Amino acid sequence: MNKTISRQHTFDVQAVRADFPCLQQDVRGKPLVYLDNAATSQIPQCVIDSLVAFNTRDRSNIHRGVHLLSQRATQSYDAVREKVARFINASSEREIVFVSGATEAINLVASTFGRANVGTGDRVLITAMEHHSNIVPWQMLCAAVGAELDVVPLLPSGELDMECYARLLTDRTRLVAVVHISNALGTINPVETMIEQAHAKDIPVLIDGAQAVPHGPVDVRALDCDFYCFSGHKLYGPTGVGVLYAKREHLEAMPPYQGGGDMIANVSFEGTTYNEVPHKFEAGTPNIGAVIGLGAALDYLAELDWDAVREYEAQLTGYAAERLASIPGLRLLGTAANRVGVFSFVMEDIHPHDIGTILDQTGVAVRTGHHCAEPLMHALDVPATARASLAFYNTRSDVDALIDGIEQVRALFGG
Ligand code: PMP
Repeated sequence: MNKTISRQHTFDVQAVRADFPCLQQDVRGKPLVYLDNAATSQIPQCVIDSLVAFNTRDRSNIHRGVHLLSQRATQSYDAVREKVARFINASSEREIVFVSGATEAINLVASTFGRANVGTGDRVLITAMEHHSNIVPWQMLCAAVGAELDVVPLLPSGELDMECYARLLTDRTRLVAVVHISNALGTINPVETMIEQAHAKDIPVLIDGAQAVPHGPVDVRALDCDFYCFSGHKLYGPTGVGVLYAKREHLEAMPPYQGGGDMIANVSFEGTTYNEVPHKFEAGTPNIGAVIGLGAALDYLAELDWDAVREYEAQLTGYAAERLASIPGLRLLGTAANRVGVFSFVMEDIHPHDIGTILDQTGVAVRTGHHCAEPLMHALDVPATARASLAFYNTRSDVDALIDGIEQVRALFGG
């Protein structure tokens, strides 16, 4: 048997599912079919155990503590920075800043790097498929400094108009901020090319990786992005923690974000000196337990054969796309060839909220609404969609349950 084929058989979805306690329950009298992973994924038992261990054994504040609990907590916390650096192949753990989530990471960059590098008449380039968290911080920055926001439009397939992108990289563009994978369409953007083209004009690039890392480790050095960010709760880890990766040279040059404990070297009323990076950007007591839990999630993910996981996800995504496309009156939004299993859809004359509510009665959890991407909804000319999003622990029978649920929706509405 050749190597590729044998590796494909190393992903045992039932064994993986058994690691996720939340998936084992019934809801509304039916087995839970969890298809809201793009909003928040479930966590494996080892992450729950690490949270319990911190709270029952090591709970204390980190850094500066001489007592044993503080030493244990500090050691566990600090070890996670190295794990994150390895997960995204950063050159050094000094390039990893712990934040509360992707949202805070982008706000941090906007209010430090942005304030220092974007001025009156300058431009920040984003895309029409951004999550609000990669729109509003740039709008706020532009309003504060008198800069302008440019937006790369979409093609009907839900892919970016790359010709337009190239044209919008102007002499006044000071930053590109783009989503790696769209949370509403599942489109995987050609970020390698986008970074290359921006760098050719000396424009730095921030990648919002919130929806990308749950589908496999990324390599920030191969991408050569300037900033990369993601949230723990979509990465099979706890809520309230996220990561900002930034090239060391940027972190060194950026002014601090918030002032407070831990981000300083020395404080006096005459003047304060700041801690070295990345601590300069981590003021106050962090979400210690959540960082430790994120470390446990990364340990778990490191055990998976990612070639096999990607192959499994690709097949499941293909199956779901095919089955959804076969439902009369259902319209899939976003049909990019390069995509993950995030499916936004609308059904003739049926409000997405009704779709979500009826699916919930069948045990199927999906999200409905604008998915924090209102400008994208305007571009697609829909007020809202229903969205089913897959994780590696989903199965064909989950997809079948979704399709059966949608058939019930159709039957109820006389379709
Ligand atoms: N970017 C994308 C693409 C997202 O999907 C999300 C979460 N839906 C965010 C950013 C914001 O993440 P968080 O709310 O965890 O900060």
